[in-house]
Amino acid sequence: MFKIIFTFAKKNKYMHSPYMIDWAITNRCNLNCIHCRGMANKELDEKIIYKTANEIASLKPQWVIIEGGEPFLREELFDILEIISKKILKFTLSVMGC
Ligand code: SF4
Repeated sequence: MFKIIFTFAKKNKYMHSPYMIDWAITNRCNLNCIHCRGMANKELDEKIIYKTANEIASLKPQWVIIEGGEPFLREELFDILEIISKKILKFTLSVMGC
């Protein structure tokens, strides 16, 4: 499973895309912190993760956060970043999920 949180900075007639999308692309992590809030057990398969990346890019949010778990454990990470960076000016890669 995955989560996408859409946050709208302000709802008005001039804003048609989300301000920010926070996407946890994996639940795997190198650490095992006792305070970890955890995530759902299943991850998106390769086909769905690329589809999701393209859908996020098509929404043209102002800012995308890629997190996990540890996003570098997802082998598609650099492809995902390439898809997203073509249409989105600002993105953040949050390592170790926290
Ligand atoms: S995702 Fe964050 S809180 Fe959870 S185990 Fe990894 S580093 Fe710790």
